[in-house]
Amino acid sequence: MTFATRFAPSPTGPLHLGHAFSALLGHDMARAAEGRFLLRMEDTDLQRSKAEWDALILEDLAWLGLSWDGPVWRQSEHLRDYEPAIARLEEMDLLYPCSCSRSDIQAAQTAPQEGVRHDVYPGTCRHRDMASRHPGDALRLHLDRTLAWFDGALPAFEETGERWAGTHRVEPDFALARIGDVVVSRKGEEIVAYFLASALDDVTQGITDVVRGEDLFHFTPIQVLLLRLLDKPLPRYHHHRLIRDDEGKRLAKRDDARALSLYREQGRTAQDIRAMVGL
Ligand code: GLU
Repeated sequence: MTFATRFAPSPTGPLHLGHAFSALLGHDMARAAEGRFLLRMEDTDLQRSKAEWDALILEDLAWLGLSWDGPVWRQSEHLRDYEPAIARLEEMDLLYPCSCSRSDIQAAQTAPQEGVRHDVYPGTCRHRDMASRHPGDALRLHLDRTLAWFDGALPAFEETGERWAGTHRVEPDFALARIGDVVVSRKGEEIVAYFLASALDDVTQGITDVVRGEDLFHFTPIQVLLLRLLDKPLPRYHHHRLIRDDEGKRLAKRDDARALSLYREQGRTAQDIRAMVGL
Protein backbone atom coordinates (compact mmCIF):
# COMPACT_ATOMS: atom_id res chain seq x y z
CA MET A 1 0.00 0.00 0.00
CA THR A 2 1.25 3.50 -0.79
CA PHE A 3 2.61 5.33 2.23
CA ALA A 4 0.03 7.62 3.83
CA THR A 5 0.42 9.60 7.00
CA ARG A 6 -1.40 12.40 8.74
CA PHE A 7 -0.93 15.38 11.00
CA ALA A 8 -3.71 15.34 13.60
CA PRO A 9 -3.74 18.44 15.81
CA SER A 10 -6.51 19.27 18.26
CA PRO A 11 -7.69 22.83 17.57
CA THR A 12 -7.55 23.81 21.23
CA GLY A 13 -4.59 26.19 21.05
CA PRO A 14 -1.84 27.52 18.79
CA LEU A 15 0.72 25.28 17.11
CA HIS A 16 4.20 25.49 18.57
CA LEU A 17 7.61 24.28 17.44
CA GLY A 18 6.86 20.70 18.50
CA HIS A 19 3.82 20.57 16.23
CA ALA A 20 5.82 22.12 13.41
CA PHE A 21 8.43 19.36 13.74
CA SER A 22 5.76 16.67 13.69
CA ALA A 23 3.96 18.12 10.67
CA LEU A 24 7.18 18.77 8.72
CA LEU A 25 8.53 15.30 9.43
CA GLY A 26 5.30 13.53 8.43
CA HIS A 27 5.02 15.68 5.34
CA ASP A 28 8.64 15.06 4.31
CA MET A 29 8.28 11.31 4.87
CA ALA A 30 5.14 11.21 2.74
CA ARG A 31 6.67 13.25 -0.07
CA ALA A 32 9.90 11.20 -0.03
CA ALA A 33 7.82 8.02 -0.36
CA GLU A 34 5.62 9.60 -3.05
CA GLY A 35 2.78 8.92 -0.67
CA ARG A 36 0.00 10.97 0.86
CA PHE A 37 0.01 13.51 3.69
CA LEU A 38 -3.42 14.10 5.24
CA LEU A 39 -4.64 16.67 7.73
CA ARG A 40 -7.09 15.77 10.47
CA MET A 41 -8.54 18.09 13.10
CA GLU A 42 -9.14 16.12 16.29
CA ASP A 43 -11.98 18.28 17.50
CA THR A 44 -14.22 15.85 19.39
CA ASP A 45 -13.80 18.01 22.49
CA LEU A 46 -16.53 20.36 21.40
CA GLN A 47 -16.00 22.71 24.32
CA ARG A 48 -12.28 23.30 23.96
CA SER A 49 -12.05 23.13 20.17
CA LYS A 50 -12.44 26.52 18.49
CA ALA A 51 -12.85 27.59 14.88
CA GLU A 52 -10.22 30.33 15.48
CA TRP A 53 -7.56 27.75 16.40
CA ASP A 54 -8.56 25.58 13.45
CA ALA A 55 -8.10 28.58 11.10
CA LEU A 56 -4.77 29.56 12.68
CA ILE A 57 -3.48 25.98 12.32
CA LEU A 58 -4.28 26.01 8.60
CA GLU A 59 -2.50 29.36 8.23
CA ASP A 60 0.56 28.15 10.14
CA LEU A 61 0.83 24.96 8.09
CA ALA A 62 0.54 26.85 4.81
CA TRP A 63 3.18 29.30 6.06
CA LEU A 64 5.45 26.34 6.81
CA GLY A 65 5.10 25.46 3.14
CA LEU A 66 3.08 22.30 3.76
CA SER A 67 0.39 21.06 1.45
CA TRP A 68 -1.94 18.23 2.32
CA ASP A 69 -3.83 15.83 0.11
CA GLY A 70 -7.60 16.06 -0.08
CA PRO A 71 -9.92 18.04 2.19
CA VAL A 72 -9.27 18.54 5.91
CA TRP A 73 -10.94 15.76 7.92
CA ARG A 74 -12.76 17.11 10.99
CA GLN A 75 -13.85 14.55 13.56
CA SER A 76 -16.75 16.75 14.68
CA GLU A 77 -18.28 16.20 11.21
CA HIS A 78 -18.18 12.42 11.66
CA LEU A 79 -19.48 11.89 15.19
CA ARG A 80 -22.14 9.39 14.11
CA ASP A 81 -19.54 7.25 12.34
CA TYR A 82 -17.99 6.11 15.61
CA GLU A 83 -21.24 4.76 17.05
CA PRO A 84 -21.07 1.25 15.52
CA ALA A 85 -17.64 0.74 17.08
CA ILE A 86 -18.89 1.82 20.50
CA ALA A 87 -21.94 -0.44 20.11
CA ARG A 88 -19.67 -3.34 19.12
CA LEU A 89 -17.48 -2.89 22.21
CA GLU A 90 -20.63 -2.76 24.32
CA GLU A 91 -21.89 -6.01 22.75
CA MET A 92 -18.57 -7.63 23.60
CA ASP A 93 -19.20 -6.58 27.20
CA LEU A 94 -16.02 -4.53 27.39
CA LEU A 95 -17.49 -1.18 28.45
CA TYR A 96 -18.85 0.17 31.71
CA PRO A 97 -20.45 3.48 32.65
CA CYS A 98 -18.50 5.94 34.79
CA SER A 99 -19.74 9.00 36.65
CA CYS A 100 -16.40 10.07 38.18
CA SER A 101 -15.31 13.66 37.78
CA ARG A 102 -11.69 14.61 37.16
CA SER A 103 -11.32 15.63 40.81
CA ASP A 104 -12.78 12.29 42.03
CA ILE A 105 -10.12 10.54 39.99
CA GLN A 106 -7.30 12.72 41.24
CA ALA A 107 -8.42 12.28 44.84
CA ALA A 108 -8.36 8.48 44.48
CA GLN A 109 -4.89 8.44 42.95
CA THR A 110 -2.15 7.10 45.18
CA ALA A 111 0.89 8.36 43.31
CA PRO A 112 1.42 10.90 40.55
CA GLN A 113 2.02 9.33 37.15
CA GLU A 114 5.40 10.28 35.77
CA GLY A 115 5.66 10.89 32.08
CA VAL A 116 2.17 9.74 31.13
CA ARG A 117 -0.02 12.60 30.10
CA HIS A 118 -3.25 11.26 31.49
CA ASP A 119 -4.59 10.10 34.83
CA VAL A 120 -4.77 6.35 35.27
CA TYR A 121 -8.31 5.63 36.32
CA PRO A 122 -8.48 4.06 39.81
CA GLY A 123 -11.44 1.83 38.90
CA THR A 124 -14.13 3.33 41.11
CA CYS A 125 -16.97 2.50 38.69
CA ARG A 126 -15.49 -0.73 37.31
CA HIS A 127 -18.05 -2.92 39.11
CA ARG A 128 -20.96 -1.23 37.28
CA ASP A 129 -22.77 -2.79 34.33
CA MET A 130 -24.23 -1.04 31.31
CA ALA A 131 -27.77 -1.37 32.65
CA SER A 132 -26.84 1.16 35.35
CA ARG A 133 -25.82 3.80 32.83
CA HIS A 134 -27.18 7.31 33.47
CA PRO A 135 -27.39 9.87 30.67
CA GLY A 136 -24.48 11.85 32.19
CA ASP A 137 -22.07 8.90 32.36
CA ALA A 138 -18.94 8.37 30.30
CA LEU A 139 -18.09 4.90 28.98
CA ARG A 140 -14.78 3.28 29.87
CA LEU A 141 -12.97 0.31 28.39
CA HIS A 142 -12.68 -2.53 30.91
CA LEU A 143 -9.01 -3.25 30.30
CA ASP A 144 -8.82 -6.40 32.41
CA ARG A 145 -11.63 -8.00 30.45
CA THR A 146 -10.20 -6.70 27.19
CA LEU A 147 -6.86 -8.38 27.85
CA ALA A 148 -8.68 -11.59 28.84
CA TRP A 149 -10.65 -11.41 25.59
CA PHE A 150 -7.41 -11.93 23.66
CA ASP A 151 -6.85 -15.13 25.64
CA GLY A 152 -3.06 -14.84 25.87
CA ALA A 153 -2.60 -13.88 22.20
CA LEU A 154 -2.15 -10.13 22.67
CA PRO A 155 -1.52 -8.25 19.45
CA ALA A 156 1.82 -6.83 18.34
CA PHE A 157 2.57 -3.65 16.40
CA GLU A 158 5.44 -2.32 14.31
CA GLU A 159 7.38 0.76 15.36
CA THR A 160 9.81 2.51 13.01
CA GLY A 161 10.81 5.50 15.16
CA GLU A 162 14.46 5.49 16.29
CA ARG A 163 13.93 5.03 20.00
CA TRP A 164 11.74 1.93 19.99
CA ALA A 165 12.24 0.57 16.45
CA GLY A 166 11.02 -3.01 16.14
CA THR A 167 8.03 -5.18 16.97
CA HIS A 168 6.20 -4.68 20.27
CA ARG A 169 3.66 -6.98 21.84
CA VAL A 170 1.02 -5.34 24.08
CA GLU A 171 2.09 -6.03 27.66
CA PRO A 172 -0.71 -6.58 30.16
CA ASP A 173 1.18 -5.16 33.15
CA PHE A 174 2.15 -2.05 31.31
CA ALA A 175 -1.30 -1.48 29.89
CA LEU A 176 -3.02 -1.97 33.22
CA ALA A 177 -0.62 -0.03 35.39
CA ARG A 178 0.23 2.89 33.14
CA ILE A 179 -2.76 3.29 30.86
CA GLY A 180 -5.80 1.96 32.71
CA ASP A 181 -9.46 1.94 31.74
CA VAL A 182 -9.58 4.73 29.17
CA VAL A 183 -12.71 6.69 28.28
CA VAL A 184 -14.08 5.72 24.87
CA SER A 185 -17.21 7.82 25.00
CA ARG A 186 -17.48 11.05 26.86
CA LYS A 187 -19.74 12.19 29.61
CA GLY A 188 -23.10 13.65 28.83
CA GLU A 189 -23.04 13.13 25.09
CA GLU A 190 -22.65 10.15 22.78
CA ILE A 191 -19.28 11.50 21.94
CA VAL A 192 -16.30 9.41 21.12
CA ALA A 193 -13.07 10.22 22.94
CA TYR A 194 -9.51 10.53 21.64
CA PHE A 195 -8.23 6.93 21.81
CA LEU A 196 -11.00 5.40 19.76
CA ALA A 197 -11.70 8.31 17.39
CA SER A 198 -8.07 8.74 16.43
CA ALA A 199 -7.41 5.01 15.94
CA LEU A 200 -10.56 4.52 13.85
CA ASP A 201 -9.85 7.55 11.70
CA ASP A 202 -6.39 6.25 10.93
CA VAL A 203 -8.09 3.20 9.42
CA THR A 204 -10.85 5.16 7.67
CA GLN A 205 -8.33 7.56 6.16
CA GLY A 206 -6.12 4.71 4.96
CA ILE A 207 -3.13 5.73 7.07
CA THR A 208 -0.27 3.24 6.66
CA ASP A 209 2.13 5.06 9.00
CA VAL A 210 1.18 7.09 12.05
CA VAL A 211 3.88 9.73 12.58
CA ARG A 212 3.62 11.50 15.94
CA GLY A 213 5.53 12.54 19.07
CA GLU A 214 7.07 9.97 21.38
CA ASP A 215 4.89 11.18 24.25
CA LEU A 216 2.10 9.21 22.53
CA PHE A 217 4.07 5.96 22.27
CA HIS A 218 2.63 4.79 25.59
CA PHE A 219 -0.91 5.17 24.32
CA THR A 220 -0.27 3.02 21.27
CA PRO A 221 -1.02 -0.34 22.96
CA ILE A 222 -4.54 0.86 23.76
CA GLN A 223 -5.16 1.92 20.18
CA VAL A 224 -3.77 -1.40 18.98
CA LEU A 225 -6.12 -3.29 21.34
CA LEU A 226 -9.11 -1.23 20.18
CA LEU A 227 -8.34 -1.78 16.50
CA ARG A 228 -7.82 -5.50 16.92
CA LEU A 229 -11.04 -5.86 18.96
CA LEU A 230 -12.84 -4.23 16.06
CA ASP A 231 -11.09 -6.40 13.43
CA LYS A 232 -9.35 -3.42 11.85
CA PRO A 233 -5.92 -3.44 10.22
CA LEU A 234 -3.04 -1.85 12.13
CA PRO A 235 -0.94 0.97 10.76
CA ARG A 236 2.81 1.07 11.46
CA TYR A 237 3.79 3.63 14.10
CA HIS A 238 6.63 6.12 14.06
CA HIS A 239 7.17 8.09 17.26
CA HIS A 240 9.64 10.92 16.86
CA ARG A 241 11.75 12.85 19.37
CA LEU A 242 10.11 15.79 21.11
CA ILE A 243 11.14 19.40 20.79
CA ARG A 244 11.85 20.56 24.31
CA ASP A 245 12.05 23.98 25.91
CA ASP A 246 15.27 25.35 27.45
CA GLU A 247 14.61 23.47 30.68
CA GLY A 248 14.14 20.20 28.80
CA LYS A 249 10.39 20.03 29.24
CA ARG A 250 8.04 18.96 26.46
CA LEU A 251 6.38 21.96 24.81
CA ALA A 252 2.65 22.18 25.41
CA LYS A 253 -0.10 24.22 23.82
CA ARG A 254 0.05 26.65 26.73
CA ASP A 255 3.65 27.58 25.84
CA ASP A 256 2.41 30.44 23.74
CA ALA A 257 5.85 32.03 23.68
CA ARG A 258 6.85 29.33 21.19
CA ALA A 259 3.68 29.58 19.13
CA LEU A 260 4.48 29.49 15.42
CA SER A 261 2.35 32.56 14.83
CA LEU A 262 4.71 34.59 17.04
CA TYR A 263 7.77 33.48 15.07
CA ARG A 264 5.83 34.38 11.97
CA GLU A 265 5.08 37.88 13.30
CA GLN A 266 8.75 38.32 14.20
CA GLY A 267 9.61 37.84 10.54
CA ARG A 268 11.13 34.36 10.83
CA THR A 269 10.78 32.10 7.80
CA ALA A 270 9.71 28.50 7.35
CA GLN A 271 13.38 27.74 6.68
CA ASP A 272 14.30 29.19 10.09
CA ILE A 273 11.72 26.91 11.74
CA ARG A 274 13.12 23.87 9.93
CA ALA A 275 16.59 24.78 11.19
CA MET A 276 15.31 25.36 14.73
CA VAL A 277 13.80 21.87 14.93
CA GLY A 278 16.83 20.25 13.32
CA LEU A 279 15.43 19.40 9.91
N1 GLU B 1 -4.64 15.11 18.53
C1 GLU B 1 -3.49 14.63 19.25
C2 GLU B 1 -2.72 15.80 19.82
O1 GLU B 1 -2.85 16.91 19.34
C3 GLU B 1 -2.54 13.85 18.38
C4 GLU B 1 -3.05 12.49 18.13
C5 GLU B 1 -2.15 11.59 17.31
O2 GLU B 1 -1.28 12.06 16.55
O3 GLU B 1 -2.37 10.39 17.38
O4 GLU B 1 -1.97 15.60 20.77
